[in-house]
Amino acid sequence: FISVGQSATNLSFLIPNLIDSSISFNRVRDIFDQRPDVPEAANPAELPAVIRSIRMERVTFGYTDDADQLRDVSLHIAAGSYVAFVGPSGSGKSTALQLLARFYDPKQGSVAIDHYDLSNVSEASLRKACTLVTQDTFLFNASIRDNLMPEGEDITEAEMVEAARQANIHDIIAGWPDGYETMIYHEGGSLSGGERQRISLARALLRKPQLLLLDEVTSALDPATEADINRLIQRIRGRQTIISVTHRLDSVVNADTIHVFHEGRIVESGTHQELMKLDGLYRSLWEKQHGFHLSRDGLHATVEVE
Ligand code: ADP
Ligand code: MG
Repeated sequence: FISVGQSATNLSFLIPNLIDSSISFNRVRDIFDQRPDVPEAANPAELPAVIRSIRMERVTFGYTDDADQLRDVSLHIAAGSYVAFVGPSGSGKSTALQLLARFYDPKQGSVAIDHYDLSNVSEASLRKACTLVTQDTFLFNASIRDNLMPEGEDITEAEMVEAARQANIHDIIAGWPDGYETMIYHEGGSLSGGERQRISLARALLRKPQLLLLDEVTSALDPATEADINRLIQRIRGRQTIISVTHRLDSVVNADTIHVFHEGRIVESGTHQELMKLDGLYRSLWEKQHGFHLSRDGLHATVEVE
């Protein structure tokens, strides 16, 4: 399942500047046609320059009327924390991230930043505060520089290079004959998965979002790149709120809070140590991933890991 809407909504702020240089109008229309339909309020609020909390209150959501993919989910996240969503495949982790980025509105309950319900927040203000990076984040057929510093965005050369360094892609780019002028083709398909992901992350960092949502950004990557990205999270944590969906439990051991999803609900929350002590789903996922035999309790052995 690949949601075109999710990448497109995430990057819609870039499109007006890049239409001329790189993307056909048909392509742009395709993207917008698939955008989820979330209306902007009549007098939308602007988020404050410094946000303090992110909340989901008893959120129920389904992509269709017949089934719910999130059920009664509540989350309170203090700004600046590093939070992980883990759980079996299909348990609702990506769906929860998409609601936090307001690609959809809940059926019941609310999603709010500070006391602002997202349905009352201006889209521009939300896009400024919050960036979602996914595995299939879309790069434009343009130079790396134009991808990182789109026209109209207030970004200096030094900031661009700094973000590229943080994402461990600067040395690679600098080693190419055309450097930052290297053209990207096939929406990033001309790059390796690790290069694409690091450029996407550099672009996300340049926007300095207060809320950085990462959906399985390391899943398709080699261990070295994964380790780099985990180090990057450690460097920026505290300054930005990070919510990371991952099935690699080794990368979330030091998260401030881990929320464990199961069939659309959050069934456990806590630090790694707390969840290991609980001896529930998290522990069984952990043991399975680390090759333990689950002889204690047959129930745990039924959990599927992605
Ligand atoms: P996770 O990220 O935990 O693997 P998801 O949030 O992607 O899980 O998916 C939760 C459930 O919602 C799954 O059953 C999935 O098939 C379903 N789902 C995800 N995206 C869509 C969609 N766009 N339309 C309909 N169902 C979807
Ligand atoms: Mg997912």
